[in-house]
Amino acid sequence: MLSQTIATCQSETWQSALANAFTKLDTLLDSLGLDRHDIEDLDPSPDGFRLLVPRGFAGLMRHGDPMDPLLRQVLPLRIERNRVEGFVADPVGDGSADRGNGLLQKYRGRALLMATGACAIHCRYCFRRHFPYASLPARGTGHQAAIAQIAEDASLSEVILSGGDPLMLDDGPLRRLLSPLDTIPHLRRLRIHTRLPIVLPERITEELCRMLTGLGLQTIMVIHANHPHELGPQAERALRRLTRAGVTLLNQSVLLKDINDDPEVLERLSERLFENGVLPYYVHQLDRVEGAAHFSVTDEEAKRLMDCLRQRLPGYLVPRLVREIPGEGSKTPID
Ligand SMILES: *Cc1c(COP(=O)(O)O)cnc(C)c1O
Ligand code: SF4
Repeated sequence: MLSQTIATCQSETWQSALANAFTKLDTLLDSLGLDRHDIEDLDPSPDGFRLLVPRGFAGLMRHGDPMDPLLRQVLPLRIERNRVEGFVADPVGDGSADRGNGLLQKYRGRALLMATGACAIHCRYCFRRHFPYASLPARGTGHQAAIAQIAEDASLSEVILSGGDPLMLDDGPLRRLLSPLDTIPHLRRLRIHTRLPIVLPERITEELCRMLTGLGLQTIMVIHANHPHELGPQAERALRRLTRAGVTLLNQSVLLKDINDDPEVLERLSERLFENGVLPYYVHQLDRVEGAAHFSVTDEEAKRLMDCLRQRLPGYLVPRLVREIPGEGSKTPID
């Protein structure tokens, strides 16, 4: 009874943090001591991909700085409306890797399940910003067909929960997804791709950690942080909880112009991650999605940055620079 009450309180906490997220430009800017005139090229009413920023994440932004690297990740700009050659709606070939029922498979042994279309934050560079999420099974239901498909395919050893953000599912629907996966004999690993430990750390409740610890599958969480400032005290607490729960933590970032295309920033990011038990895994060259061209960094510049990092950091703190090329059997290394 008591533990149930506690669980309910905790889940209300992350859900209310989500409900209180900034969705209005002016209130976000106001909280930072900025107004519309401080920001060049602002798009006050972006169509399709609206503004969404949890208050805790906004609290990590520098007050009064229109160029803050966290703010620039979420700020809608008019330049997104420019059509740039080579930047398309489905840059990573999701359409052709679709096995139906929210299941994507591109690589041997690993299937990716789009657990939900929802996210707690809207990142302007997101490669899924045009993804037809509406065609996914409704929130938390309808994964039975995908689970059956995974159970029938003995060539799969790993399931990757992605989205959207899979931890946007409530504990109930998440358990109804994880429990049957945990009984499939040919599966060895469960991987969860999520930005919530960073952008909505309230989601990492003791209840969630218990659920993950209870799995027979080895559990890997690949978080997503692009800048050292994203690792605030609440995120640190969430990561410590996950480590204690026996989850292996990796990070992927996206290389973003004027946000983290700087060796100092990337070095500090790797160090901050490792201080919190997270190993840097990938740094992605931007997927060429319509509306995100202004974030792109050239391959030459990206390679130069990686050379700097290799000279500054131990090898285990240097992430792999990769790009996703439709039709390839793995992410493609750029070095
Ligand atoms: C990126 C990706 C994976 C995971 O690739 P790893 O190199 O194992 O991290 C799996 N499936 C799909 C569809 C992907 O896009
Ligand atoms: S959290 Fe990930 S999936 Fe969601 S908008 Fe950001 S980059 Fe895209």
